[in-house]
Amino acid sequence: MKEIDLRSDTVTQPTKGMLDAMFSAKVGDDVFGEDETVNALQEKLANLFGMEAGLFCPSGTMTNQIAIKCFTNPMDEVICDQTAHVYRYEGGGIAFNSLASVRLLNGYRGKITAEMVEPEINADNIHYPSSTLVVLENTINKGGGACVTLKEIEPIANLCKSKNLSLHLDGARIFNALTTTGDSAKDYGKYFDGISVCLSKGLGTPVGSVLLGNKAMIKKAARIRKILGGGMRQAGFLAAAGIYALDNHIDRLKIDHLHANKLAEWLLQTNYVKSVMPPESNIVLFDVDDKLAAEDVVKLFAKAGLKCNTTGPKTIRFVTHLDISSSDIDKCENIITKLNAWN
Ligand SMILES: *Cc1c(COP(=O)(O)O)cnc(C)c1O
Repeated sequence: MKEIDLRSDTVTQPTKGMLDAMFSAKVGDDVFGEDETVNALQEKLANLFGMEAGLFCPSGTMTNQIAIKCFTNPMDEVICDQTAHVYRYEGGGIAFNSLASVRLLNGYRGKITAEMVEPEINADNIHYPSSTLVVLENTINKGGGACVTLKEIEPIANLCKSKNLSLHLDGARIFNALTTTGDSAKDYGKYFDGISVCLSKGLGTPVGSVLLGNKAMIKKAARIRKILGGGMRQAGFLAAAGIYALDNHIDRLKIDHLHANKLAEWLLQTNYVKSVMPPESNIVLFDVDDKLAAEDVVKLFAKAGLKCNTTGPKTIRFVTHLDISSSDIDKCENIITKLNAWN
């Protein structure tokens, strides 16, 4: 029996079309800036988001960490939500790479507002670290794939401009967010100084993220990428997968969202689920009954052929993606509704 893998949207295999595009890519040495496929991918994404330039990197962690390094000096402070990937899941990289401290906010499903940010911006006083950067995330991973609209982002961007702070977006799942909000990618360039876009999540490539910014920032970013060991040579084979994904895998994200909604509906009808965070994209976070442990329920799902992970003692995460078909989702209905978690 084929297992259904809902652990993450990073588990996807490249499609035949994507592999064909990769094999036929024209490549060069990207450390010399001579890989035309990498250059095309960077340009394509920069144009799409209304930014000046882009930089292809091996991972979203690297694009985020490079952006933070570009926008801060040692002893500065970064403001973000306490659930932020840059803070929780990047190994303490802000301290290690940028020698900066972090001010954490307590948003709703990871969403923060200008009213929450403003009082946390430090006054110019030698006792305080200088607040120089705000980081937002969209969609919000730990917020159960919550989506932020540009209308919600605008007041934060205006605040950052007026206080002279940079604004970076961790857009690992930005295309999922755009699918839900209907916002135009092009408008993002008006609000953000840096944007990270992952190609290996919902878009289904094997590797790759692109950092977007203005020309001066991306020039500095290329220097930092080299120092971190992220300068790749004939990287066009990987970039070709990214171009293919942008052309072929954005429209279908709505299917993943539909699948996530169905999973949530079925989970709500069971007697072992206490609550489900209403899905806004391709992530479903749910809590098991008070008397159950999430890890035990994950084991039962695994036995039934459904792989998933816990994200807390009571919380389980499902993520839908390119390799989950509608017949897989039908099988999930069967597994979810028949699961006996009370043995
Ligand atoms: C996955 C993810 C990243 C980047 O992760 P990598 O595995 O380093 O590519 C960054 N931010 C968020 C919110 C993510 O979910």
